[in-house]
This record gives sequence, structure tokens and C-alpha cells, in this order.
Amino acid sequence: MDKLARDGGTPVRTTPLPSVADASGRRFGDEEVKAVERVLRSGMLSATWGTEVPGLEQEFAELLGASHAVACSSGTAALHLAVAAVDPEPGDEIITTPISDMGTVFPILMQNAVPVFADVDPLTGNLDVSAVAAAITERTKAVMAVHLFGKPAPVLELRELCDRHGIVLIEDCAQAYLAPVGDTYVGRIGHIGCFSLQQTKHISAGDGGLVVSDDAGLARRMRLFSDKGWPRDTDERTYLFLALNYRMTELVGAVTRAQLARLRGVVDDRRTAAARATAGIAGLSGITTPPDDGDHVYWQYPLILDPSVAGELHEWAAALTAEGVPANGGYLTSPLYAAPALRERSTYGQSRFPLQDVDYPPGLCPNAEELIERRLLVLPWNENYTSADIDDIVAAVRKVHAALAREAR
Ligand SMILES: *Cc1c(COP(=O)(O)O)cnc(C)c1O
Repeated sequence: MDKLARDGGTPVRTTPLPSVADASGRRFGDEEVKAVERVLRSGMLSATWGTEVPGLEQEFAELLGASHAVACSSGTAALHLAVAAVDPEPGDEIITTPISDMGTVFPILMQNAVPVFADVDPLTGNLDVSAVAAAITERTKAVMAVHLFGKPAPVLELRELCDRHGIVLIEDCAQAYLAPVGDTYVGRIGHIGCFSLQQTKHISAGDGGLVVSDDAGLARRMRLFSDKGWPRDTDERTYLFLALNYRMTELVGAVTRAQLARLRGVVDDRRTAAARATAGIAGLSGITTPPDDGDHVYWQYPLILDPSVAGELHEWAAALTAEGVPANGGYLTSPLYAAPALRERSTYGQSRFPLQDVDYPPGLCPNAEELIERRLLVLPWNENYTSADIDDIVAAVRKVHAALAREAR
């Protein structure tokens, strides 16, 4: 058996894999350079009078078959637009997942609503429909589902549930561009779909966000919320309700249009790479490869370990990283409800509002805790991985398995 690099053996790989942290793992080319130059030379960098952001909104709506798209300054802003459009009363509840970026949850609190956490499916980490159903109360105004790592959450079932209760379904698609659901894509089943253009997402302009909706009323509220409540579709300089400035700039809009032309290729190449990895990893004892019904778009490549068979999660992450294949144990340090901001209810001054009567005890979502603490091994994924890169990743996983699964026995 090969000695692990962790223990002084030769690593599977010494050259770094393509990474979203530099040009090796991003597709920024001449079109993006021209986009930036076009905007700068035009002298108009603001979307209020520009053409790029309106053009992007139209192209994104067309790509997804949506009636409306609104651009904004980040994925977190996109989610904030969605919550603001729902317009909860202070203390109303929005049900969401404990495994996501905090950008899913903080917009709920910023609108003075209470995040209610429902547990997740133990294989996908996506919201469990029966857990969501059990969490619905008189005060529930919306469900916010996340398509974790690019695998669609059960949004068809969630939409049915939401319709039955007369509440809104918001989809957080930051990790799941173009993931198919039925005859459409994620973001199109719920009332609102939210996307991010942050550095590490399928496409990026550094930071930026997009929302889509078929509901003209929700779309108008989102546009107003991104622009201080200023109804620019009228002649009046007035402000209709409390709102912020979350506008996207023309520079970001123009780069995103160039990125949008590459999106299908990025998704296809990530899927091809994942299929090769799954074929190479499948069958190793105590490891479950990502469930994929042709619908996973692989923002990351998550493996589920059975630690009693395959070995301990954080040892796995460290051993793989030492082999030259970066890996992350658990994705998060803790479920979102156990982060200091929520556990200590650090919100508005010392008020703890709107969480003054809310407790998020350990054990609240046992499947989520088990995934984060013991089972979820996340490999960064990339559209620029070659077959040789994937073969190295597979070789490293098989090598670490040979050593750690034996120790576990
Ligand atoms: C990245 C991400 C966000 C936040 O997007 P930003 O553009 O970083 O604000 C929200 N939710 C999920 C699931 C994400 O992956």
C-alpha cells in the first residue's frame, strides 16, 4: 500500500489543480476585457442610465424563460430583494436550511423576520420536505430553499406545499445555475429565483446578483428595493418604502453578459468532469458519490462518508489535501444556527430582536449536524479540470481510502 503524503509518502500530485482563486480556474477572456473597455470608454458606469445592465436583465430572463429579471450587487442582495418583496411583518417566520452560505439567512433578519431552520436530507444536504412541512406555523411567510453544491432541492414538492399554505417559495440558486428541474431550471419553480456572481460561482464578475420572477408585483418591489424605493418608471423623484441601494454597475453588467455566453459550457464541463470522478470513486466502501439524475451542476463535488467504514472526516480532508487534492471536511464549521451571530443573537444593539424569544439549541437539525461534523467531504470543483486532473483526484481518493478505511476497521 502507498504511504500517504501525510505520513511522509510521495503526494499524488504536486502541481496545483485549476482554482477559482486565479485565472487557471476562471474563464475570463477577450470578451470580458472588451466589455470592461466598452463601458469605460462610454463614460457611463451607472446602470441607471446605461445599457449593459438592462441588456443583461433581458438576456438572463430569456435564458431562464422568466418574465422579469432584476440585477443587483451580490447574491446576498438578491436574497434580500426577495425577502423584502415578500414584505414580512416583524416577527414573521421564513423557513430555511442550516447548510448554506449565511447570505441565505441574514436577509431574513435584516427584514426583521425570524429564520426557522428545517432539517436536511442526509445524502444531499438539501431541505427535507417533511421537515419543512412540520415547521410551518401561522406566522410562516416563505420558504427559502438552497440547491446545495448544485443539486436541485425538492422544489416541485416544496412549491406544492407552499401553495397549499399560501406562502412564497424563494429559491437560492447561487450554487446551481442551469440545474434542470422538470422541463425548466432551478429558480423557475419558486416565485423568485436568486443568483450570485461572486468570485467562486459558476460565472462571476467579482460580485453581483440576479433575481428572476414571473410575478410583476414581486419583480417591481425587488427593483424598487434595489434602488431606495425610487420609482424611476414614473417621473417623480420620490421614495415609496424603506429600501437600500443594491444597484449593479455597468462594469459588472457588461462582464456578466460575456460570462453568460460561457455558462452552458461551464456547466457541461463541470458535469463531464464529475461523471469521470464518480466512475472512478464509485464502489469504495463507506463512500457515497453525489446523487445525480442528470440534474447536478457541481458547484462543488460532495462525497458522503460513513466514518465507521471509510475513516474520520477531518483526517480525510487533511490526507487528501496533503496528496495535492484540496478537500474540506463539513463545508461549514457549524450549522448556520450555531454561528455566533445567531447563537448569541447579535442583531440590533442589545435588543436581540427579532430573536428575543427564539432559541437555536444544539441538536436542532440532527442530519445537518451529522453531515457537517462527520460525513460531508467537499472537493472544490472546476470547469477547467482536465481528464488527467480528474484521474489524479480519483487516485488520491483511492489512496486515502486504502489507508483510512483500513484504520477504521
Ligand atoms: C454565495 C452564496 C450566497 C451569497 O452570495 P454572495 O454573492 O456571496 O453574497 C448565498 N447563498 C448561497 C447558497 C451561496 O452559495
